Amino acid sequence: MPHPQTRSDGVTDHSKFLVTGGAGFIGSHLVDALLARGEPVVVLDDLSTGRMENLSRARRHGRFRFVHGSVLDAPLVDELVSGCDRIVHLAAAVGVKLIVEQPLKSFTVNTKGTETVIEAAHRHSRPVLIASTSEIYGKNSSGPLTETSDRILGSPSVSRWSYSTAKAVDEILAELYRREYGLNSTIVRFFNTVGPRQSPAYGMVIPRFARQAVRGEPLTVYGTGQQQRCFLHVNDVVAALLSLIDRPESQGETFNIGSDEEISILDLAARVIGSAKSTSTLQRVPYSAAYGPGFEDMERRVPDTTKLRAFTGWRPQRNLDDVLADAVADARREERMVVAGPCP
Ligand code: UDP
Repeated sequence: MPHPQTRSDGVTDHSKFLVTGGAGFIGSHLVDALLARGEPVVVLDDLSTGRMENLSRARRHGRFRFVHGSVLDAPLVDELVSGCDRIVHLAAAVGVKLIVEQPLKSFTVNTKGTETVIEAAHRHSRPVLIASTSEIYGKNSSGPLTETSDRILGSPSVSRWSYSTAKAVDEILAELYRREYGLNSTIVRFFNTVGPRQSPAYGMVIPRFARQAVRGEPLTVYGTGQQQRCFLHVNDVVAALLSLIDRPESQGETFNIGSDEEISILDLAARVIGSAKSTSTLQRVPYSAAYGPGFEDMERRVPDTTKLRAFTGWRPQRNLDDVLADAVADARREERMVVAGPCP
């Protein structure tokens, strides 16, 4: 059912959204977009990686409410879910660096947190959109990955795969609740996403390269740099989310969200240096130095987004040049804030 809906008496009905992880990178952009459509939004975020600055625009809005808390807090989640019409569950420990540095905490949030949200959505019969990840496909580096492509994972003792495993548990849980109890759930698998407000602190190659280029520091290329990725601008991700939210036929389905413009990390480094007109050089860093011993990377990760396009008509509006120009501008802005320091 499209939102907002206009009733027969001409009054517009808006859904009240609960966005978990709404102070995070993708979440905060979604919150701004929902508020711009007139939807009331409640954000639940523990601010572990999310930032209040990300919500500075949202907080000026009369229909916005922020709740500082965790998705592990079942009574709180239950209360918030019961008070909202729709749930978008984005709260998660994300970022390869974070996952390998805090594997247990990340696994717990990503499994128990999602279970808590799913149980509450089921109890109160609320539709829920759940964020998953391209990590689901693991080391499957065959051509574009469709939603039914195989998962190829390394050993459970390699901490990187704990994230993939946790998200697979989430997907399976949502699917079983859907089959057994009729839970209205949609799953989205985010591929590499980039844009303003993305922190370079947890891996995330483009904000890291952009910051390094702006500072004139060497760009740290991990491994051979031959690994391939596709990067989608966060505004295009939000457009995809809104189009799924607006379509009831997306219920019970799983969708890849990503760009299919493929680039090696080595070429990406050169493009960032060019975009920033920087004098930076490249520095090769072994994976073990970046992430610790035994790290396994993915050679290639390209989404097939045919399903999303067919269901919604969605098309990305920005190419990699736009993404990089935005990332460099954002890095410059952050640098100016650091140099200027806090206001007296
Ligand atoms: N990477 C890199 N230098 C960095 C950060 C990341 O070469 O400073 C590489 C990383 O090893 C991976 C790719 O860039 O092959 C994308 O990393 P990111 O953490 O952005 O996302 P991932 O695709 O690993 O989830």
